[in-house]
Amino acid sequence: MKDLAPTGCRDLPVLKQRGQHEVFCGLTGIIWLHRKMQDAFFLVIGSRTCAHLLQSAAGVMIFAEPRFGTAILEETDLAGMADAQEELDREVARLLSRRTDIKQLFLVGSCPSEVIKLDLARAAERLSQQYAPNVRVLNFSGSGIETTFTQGEDACLASMVPVLPASDERQLLLVGALPDVVEEQALGLLADMGIGPVRVLPAARAADEYGIGENTVFAMTQPFLGDTHGALERRGARHIPAPFPFGDEGTTAWLRAVADEFGVSDEVFERVTAAPRARAQKAVAQAAEVLRGRSVFFFPDSQLEVPLARFLTRECGMQAVEVGTPFLHKGLVGPDLDLMEGEFTLSEGQDVDLQLDRVRAAQPDLTVCGLGLANPLEAEGLTTKWAIELVFTPVHFYEQAGDLAGLFSRPIRRRDLLKVEAAE
Ligand code: SF4
Repeated sequence: MKDLAPTGCRDLPVLKQRGQHEVFCGLTGIIWLHRKMQDAFFLVIGSRTCAHLLQSAAGVMIFAEPRFGTAILEETDLAGMADAQEELDREVARLLSRRTDIKQLFLVGSCPSEVIKLDLARAAERLSQQYAPNVRVLNFSGSGIETTFTQGEDACLASMVPVLPASDERQLLLVGALPDVVEEQALGLLADMGIGPVRVLPAARAADEYGIGENTVFAMTQPFLGDTHGALERRGARHIPAPFPFGDEGTTAWLRAVADEFGVSDEVFERVTAAPRARAQKAVAQAAEVLRGRSVFFFPDSQLEVPLARFLTRECGMQAVEVGTPFLHKGLVGPDLDLMEGEFTLSEGQDVDLQLDRVRAAQPDLTVCGLGLANPLEAEGLTTKWAIELVFTPVHFYEQAGDLAGLFSRPIRRRDLLKVEAAE
């Protein structure tokens, strides 16, 4: 294992930018949340644009019944000529009478519902009373006004925290929606160390939920859950700060922080982690061959940028030129920044034209950015990686460490091959 002594980029000056930004909106989170929460339904109160975004991003529905839908705000709603609250009640009644499997209903705000100031909190409260105890109705905003796409999950999870019952039980809460296979690996490692009980937010079903309180400690698996972190602390739960579980080093440091909290001995820790760590190191070393000595530039998009930059610079030998993130929450990504070294620009927020000037001047070997920027930059000769893929692909913990490195090495390999072919 590498030396974990802090070298320290936590206090690096931050370039703060507030200009035009190019990101998806928070509705995108519904795509992975609806797979995770099996008795939930996400009802977006939005426009046809919102419906199209969801439908095209979610692709073909593989479930017998969909777990999300859009209540379309028509022109009469937008012009204030119809009572949108009444119409919402009617839509919800129709949905819940047909779908008795729904136990949690999320009313999801959008740009149009925010513009007409539709009070979804009031609606959720009213409908919750009406449909209790069978269905819990909550609300959050996925609007694209001043958000980035991972904030949808944050807003959703944060809306669930205040309604969890109180409990004094000593327990560990894992916070963040992970693909099932990854979640099972994490739970398996923790169980092998004798850590428990372990709960997960979001739980797969409303009935699986638990209480929280002052004896709850929580570990974050996603760095974009700042509001959820705040909501949990307000309920008395305590955060275990740690680097995020990306790669061998990040996973080991994350597990070590949790293990220390639960008094796990070095022997047990070593016994449980040695084999998967060795596999992760080998897989990363193979995939990272092509990354060594190459430069990387992150546009602000998924909010995974800081932990990923730590992984790429520490474990894959890359050099960061700029690490841009929509929001810099040092309470969450501080431990990752502590592990980073070298000179790079740490930027928060975006002024896209200025950032495009910087990336063109830097000509990095790899640019991690949103879909809207990737194609034009590819056309200019830069090699890109779509940030959104990092959220849709299983990348956390040991067994996925090689795949994570592979996500970054593939575009570089492809570009190298194209160069060779062009030269021949
Ligand atoms: S919430 Fe806003 S940004 Fe997102 S799809 Fe709807 S209108 Fe577009």
